[in-house]
Amino acid sequence: MQYPPSTAADRPAILVSDFDGTMTQHDFYRLAIEQLIPNDCPNFWAEYRRGRMTHFEALQAYFGAISASEEAVLTIVNQMQIDPMLPKSLAALRAAGWQVVVTSAGCKWYIDYLLDRMGVTLEVYANPGIFISGQGLRMDLPSDPQFRSPTVGVDKAGVVAHWLDQGFRVAFAGDGFPDVDAAKLVDGSLRFAKSDLAEQLQREQLPFHRFGAWSDIATHLLK
Ligand SMILES: [Mg+2]
Repeated sequence: MQYPPSTAADRPAILVSDFDGTMTQHDFYRLAIEQLIPNDCPNFWAEYRRGRMTHFEALQAYFGAISASEEAVLTIVNQMQIDPMLPKSLAALRAAGWQVVVTSAGCKWYIDYLLDRMGVTLEVYANPGIFISGQGLRMDLPSDPQFRSPTVGVDKAGVVAHWLDQGFRVAFAGDGFPDVDAAKLVDGSLRFAKSDLAEQLQREQLPFHRFGAWSDIATHLLK
């Protein structure tokens, strides 16, 4: 598929961003496995790597194994360290004509909680979930078939392709392997990466901008 060049400044612009490890310093699932999941919990990641579970099923199983109280879980959510500059950066991006949407293979429950705490409203494509004391975080696949992926829940590359098809300049930011396909669709000048995503793009000799905090991306796009 041929997309128009991304240099035309008169086109509407959108930043599609991952959440865990991108808008935050830490991933919820890592913190949950370290601090909330009982030690005798099966190794669902090993099952995923063996191809016996999907990425979504492994996360769903871990989240469902949380036996801690909602209060204890929210303490962990706050340890994800969302970028404190997010509201300011978002306002600056919007003032310059950038829309921002979140795509995540994680759960909307903790994403909405953190965005709400920061006082920001964003469109979020993630797996819906509710917390039930004693049953953990119950995560489901999105009910809306648009952008739904049976293996990770949310088809991030599908979200990016959708906006490219609408003629938008699309920037993408991410930090993990589930971000690779989406990142590859955007122009190198609008591709932002760190951690596993950055290493993968480097291996494939694809251009990208390395970021530390999410607000670095905004600073770069507003230059
Ligand atoms: Mg991530």
